[in-house]
Amino acid sequence: MPLKKSWVASANSADHPFPLNNLPYGVFSTKNTEPRCGVAIGDMIFDITAAEADGLVALSDEPLFDLPFWNPLMEEGPAVWAALRNRLTTLLAEGTDARHKVENLLVPQSEAQMHMPFAVSEYTDFYAGRHHAQNVGTMFRGAENALPPNWLHIPIGYNGRASSVVVSGTDIRRPWGQLKGPNDDAPRFAPSLRFDIELEMGAIVGTPSDGPISVQQADDHIFGYVLLNDWSARDIQAWEYQPLGPFQAKATATSVSPWIVTKAALEPFRCDTPARVVELLDHLKDCGPMLYDIDLSVTMAPESQTATTIANTNYNQMYYSAAQQLAHHSTSGCPMNTGDLLGSGTISGPTKPERGSLLELSWGGKEPLTLDTGETRSFIEDGDTLTLKGTARGDGYTIGFGDCVGTVLPALANPYET
Ligand code: CA
Repeated sequence: MPLKKSWVASANSADHPFPLNNLPYGVFSTKNTEPRCGVAIGDMIFDITAAEADGLVALSDEPLFDLPFWNPLMEEGPAVWAALRNRLTTLLAEGTDARHKVENLLVPQSEAQMHMPFAVSEYTDFYAGRHHAQNVGTMFRGAENALPPNWLHIPIGYNGRASSVVVSGTDIRRPWGQLKGPNDDAPRFAPSLRFDIELEMGAIVGTPSDGPISVQQADDHIFGYVLLNDWSARDIQAWEYQPLGPFQAKATATSVSPWIVTKAALEPFRCDTPARVVELLDHLKDCGPMLYDIDLSVTMAPESQTATTIANTNYNQMYYSAAQQLAHHSTSGCPMNTGDLLGSGTISGPTKPERGSLLELSWGGKEPLTLDTGETRSFIEDGDTLTLKGTARGDGYTIGFGDCVGTVLPALANPYET
């Protein structure tokens, strides 16, 4: 499918992240307006809350866009999702007779501040990238025991915190925590010295489920995807992770991109998971292409300096799809709700420049990176800005998510000292 032409001229460039083929969903405010729902088109945002109030978009008897998040639409399900996409495509396509009505409802992105695009119900994070699990397992337990015995049979996950999920652009405060002592004894309480990123995709549950669902059903329940940075304190993690997995190491913040790219926009980029090392049990077997070919990158910029690209990889490197993760999540009968966020797990490729965390890129601090500025880094220093980018390249067009950015601020004074 080629580039779909819009009367919004900036949307018609082959390299622009927001052509008519994309139509991602966000929440924005301006100097004069409170946070509201909007759709990115070229350099502009279509104010969908105002469009619904004006009767330009009518999908339901009840308003779907009078709250500053997309959950009411997500809950409606695939038929209404498709109806909105069709309506938006009609209103924004070249040659529409609605142009004069829509033009008044466009806001330049440069004048908008972005907010969380959806209310996160619960947040689960997985550990489903094979190269990442192999690398981290090798560092923590040795190459022989890198992958735990369950890893090739289930997508391993843990229940994270919805309360600490933030939108791109939110500053991240370096956490304090309990760090391991020299010999598994004498731990100390100090600011994390090994603060890190994790390059991930986040899948957003649209329609709820109550009981086990199949991989195909799970795919149907997913509304869309965001870029996700699971900020991780490696020194807190190393001390706390056994036997119940990460806890405070992952509880400081998780950043997501400002735009939700819908499953419909990503349809042309579907691809298969890699070959299975061992056959999965029937209920988790692949039943169609449910990963996506999305180029991902990470840049790092010391305070007030230019950014260096430190990693390039692709979402197609995951061993498990989000649909397999959601299906596995439901096997126990666990109810899944509109707005549940599933982190893919860190996405790393097979070679060094494809690693999606500093832990892997610097091999636990043994091989520091040299940035273009000449500085070296093993982990994040105060003032560093980390940016995740995601791009799906179509036939004459590009699908983007908006950058997922965070700047790390110095730790505050010891919170327990008065
Ligand atoms: Ca993670």
